[in-house]
Amino acid sequence: MQFNFIANTPTPSGSGLTLDVIDPSDGQPFDQIQRSNALDIANAVEAARQAFNGPWGRLSAVERGRLLRKLSDKVLECTEELAGLEQRDCGKPTKQARADATALARYFEFYAGACDKLHGDTIPYQNGYSVMTWREPHGVTGHIIPWNYPMQIFGRSVGGALAAGNACVVKPAEDACLSLIRVAQLAAEVGFPAGTINIVTGLGHEVGDALARNTGIDHISFTGSPNVGTLIQQVAAARHCPVTLELGGKSPQVIFADADLDAVVPVVINAIVQNAGQTCSAGSRVLIEQSIYEPLLERLGLAFKALRVGPATMDLDLGPLIRASQQVRVQGLLDEARASGVGTVAEGQLVSQAPDSGFYQVPVLLRDVPVAHRIAQEEVFGPVLAAMAFDNEDHAVELANATQFGLVAGVWTRDGARQFRMARRLRSGQVFINNYGAGGGVELPFGGVKSSGHGREKGFEALLGFTTLKTVAVFHG
Ligand code: NAD
Repeated sequence: MQFNFIANTPTPSGSGLTLDVIDPSDGQPFDQIQRSNALDIANAVEAARQAFNGPWGRLSAVERGRLLRKLSDKVLECTEELAGLEQRDCGKPTKQARADATALARYFEFYAGACDKLHGDTIPYQNGYSVMTWREPHGVTGHIIPWNYPMQIFGRSVGGALAAGNACVVKPAEDACLSLIRVAQLAAEVGFPAGTINIVTGLGHEVGDALARNTGIDHISFTGSPNVGTLIQQVAAARHCPVTLELGGKSPQVIFADADLDAVVPVVINAIVQNAGQTCSAGSRVLIEQSIYEPLLERLGLAFKALRVGPATMDLDLGPLIRASQQVRVQGLLDEARASGVGTVAEGQLVSQAPDSGFYQVPVLLRDVPVAHRIAQEEVFGPVLAAMAFDNEDHAVELANATQFGLVAGVWTRDGARQFRMARRLRSGQVFINNYGAGGGVELPFGGVKSSGHGREKGFEALLGFTTLKTVAVFHG
């Protein structure tokens, strides 16, 4: 049985209710979390406020950095334990789960070093004045985390907020809480004052909504689906609470005929099969210049056929999807695409050891997907790659920008001038040239345009969002 973690204390929900934790590899429950309510959120917010007004808020920037550095080291020490928890909870192959734990440590390391480098400016103003800006923490920040990369998203969101001096109330996704509860315990062990990091688990429309509505929350960082992002922003707007939204994507990889195709193939494959395609920045569309369309599809098809899907602990190319409803959704989108005439180039294989009760989906490569088709427009959040051909650079830009999203884009070409033209013309928060970083880059500011969200996390840029700027004007004559 797992408890909330409030004021450095394992705490049952006042509701007396729990939710089952399901292993996606076999569909079986193996643990329970608290099904918390608005009162639990209120208690966590109160604990965070006390930390902010007390021992945590009184620490200097360098002391905050030292604590974050200790937490980073502790996470590295506990990599296997944390990876094991997230593997079972989310169905992640071993390599992915370990990479996520390592990335969590790296976020804390990065933000540990950033704490005492965050400062304001002095501004030349009228004679007789000295004017400066101070970067101050918001106070108590709320963090709503999705299930696809709990540790990584906690690292980038909570890591940045702590570095800036905030105290945090975290609502993990109901499907993926275990690793984050443990990280909060580790933070207490290395000396974070009580109330600095609080974890409250439960359902989105209950406890997530309660967090968004709580007037003690001074800033909300939400990572999740565009629909819920809209709800959060509406709720926050009623009390003018600032919000960072990290939402979905339908990210294109644009392959020109002069690209190094040996380099292209493994990266395009990884960008869609990583975490079974359940990645906001998955490269879920591949746009290929007409003259190399058929030969590249053939190569990609061969690679897809070799991909193997199975239980997380087998550490194959893909594990299961997170839950049964996600499996049904992905299958429904595929059925609809096929019924409307979209062709399949290739599929991967499900291994015989995969239990029927697990939530598996083989990777699928689709071809000639019309740009307006749902499968080319909507986030599938599964291992489905939609291929389409383009005629020239203008056409490539038009197709790449033709969705409601704009999170990450990849461009593959050896033509240097075209690399820069494309990077400028793509409406996207990140553009990779001759590579692709689905989810990677602790140092790189990350976030979207259009329905992919607004605000930036990761890198130093995130610290600006986790602070508010105060201008202090001193008249001294
Ligand atoms: P989701 O929106 O269903 O849930 C995200 C979180 O919001 C969960 O913790 C959930 O409990 C909570 N929630 C749900 N309803 C809520 C409500 N009414 N009020 C408050 N909180 C609520 O998303 P998901 O299915 O967990 O994650 C998948 C989505 O997240 C995809 O769209 C994906 O692209 C997106 N995502 C984006 C990024 C990014 O950085 N841009 C990263 C990872 C995932």
